[in-house]
Amino acid sequence: METSEMLKSFGLSDKAVELGEKYEKELEKRFEEIDKTAEYNQLKVIKAMQENRLSDIHFAATTGYGYNDIGRETLEKVYASIFHTEDALVRPQITCGTHALTIALAANLRPGDELLSPVGKPYDTLEGVIGIKEQKGSLKEFGISYSQVDLLPDGGFDLNGIKKAINEKTKMVTIQRSKGYQTRPTLSVERIGELISFIRSVKPEVIIMVDNCYGEFVEKIEPSDVGADLCVGSLIKNPGGGLVASGGYIVGKEEYIENCAFRLTAPGLGKEVGATLGINQSMFQGLFLAPTVVASALKGAIFAAKIFEDLGYPCIPNGTEPRYDIIQAVTLGSAEKLIAFCGGIQAASPVDSFVVPEGWAMPGYNSDVIMAAGNFIQGSSIELSADGPITEPYAVYFQGGLTWYHAKLGILTALDRVLKTEK
Ligand SMILES: *Cc1c(COP(=O)(O)O)cnc(C)c1O
Repeated sequence: METSEMLKSFGLSDKAVELGEKYEKELEKRFEEIDKTAEYNQLKVIKAMQENRLSDIHFAATTGYGYNDIGRETLEKVYASIFHTEDALVRPQITCGTHALTIALAANLRPGDELLSPVGKPYDTLEGVIGIKEQKGSLKEFGISYSQVDLLPDGGFDLNGIKKAINEKTKMVTIQRSKGYQTRPTLSVERIGELISFIRSVKPEVIIMVDNCYGEFVEKIEPSDVGADLCVGSLIKNPGGGLVASGGYIVGKEEYIENCAFRLTAPGLGKEVGATLGINQSMFQGLFLAPTVVASALKGAIFAAKIFEDLGYPCIPNGTEPRYDIIQAVTLGSAEKLIAFCGGIQAASPVDSFVVPEGWAMPGYNSDVIMAAGNFIQGSSIELSADGPITEPYAVYFQGGLTWYHAKLGILTALDRVLKTEK
């Protein structure tokens, strides 16, 4: 059977399959560039594993306190090598990206300090963490204040505003690399580097943290290569390569990582404790696969942008601009189309393909959110997934794909469902 026939056996229309063939051809050159970055990052990961003498013994399980877990210690060294940082905290006990970011902030800020975001509003779930939105246990409740400088209308940094916002209380700066659920552009590592240099010229001793979620391995360099003191992310996104069942990472300066470890476990215990219960092997193997998995996700994102843009749906980023994260926003313009798109992604999944996604009031979010994912790992958004708040402008945020072929099937199925609503 031809592959096109096989695609049609999933119920895809001739039109969807034809559009798929057309755009896949058009994107050959872009895909080649993505593969080149993936190769570079693959080598970076292998080198880090070799330099830290990764061995079979590191895959053994520890229990209880988890003292002397050499697998865990080696994993953290490998992360530090990849990100070129002094130290790393990579743990299954970090429950998600929000938790990792919370640890990094709460560990390094003290009452009376101020946190600054020079790139506008942070990710939704951080509003409660910081206290932008009233929330028990927020940083605000502990006497930590927050200030924010929005990006300029053209997406540039408001350098004057940032300079004015930095004061004697400013202890930490948080920079979000990815757009998250916003329609602003994602920041390239180079631009993050420029922003960091500027901030350092105003206040050299400030601690600069980058929320690196969805950005890992998209470029050849990471924010820690351009001066970030801390980089933070989730292991059920890019660096877990789709294999890690749970966890988060924080890499950066030794002093700040120690603070994070004291906050995650307990002051004085820090990195010494934390049983890994046998998951080290998946942490290493997922990291090993991550560069190629990220490449698959990037191909899917660009493919989706190309197709939907040509059909008249605004896409951020658009089909031709460079990529700095794996998220693709497509503005679908109606709840019906948003739900149809998500239904298509779900129907093309290897797991739970028979489930119909619906919107729900997800904790931490301001409106109903619809999420589609037929995942091996619950909530993993490095796996093919689509989500979006069911509110104006009805944009779907689409990401992931452990393999390009699955991403392609998912996008074509979503496309077909959206096309049907147009009739
Ligand atoms: C996903 C994400 C987070 C939060 O991660 P969770 O694992 O969902 O808690 C924070 N910031 C950005 C930019 C993200 O994409």
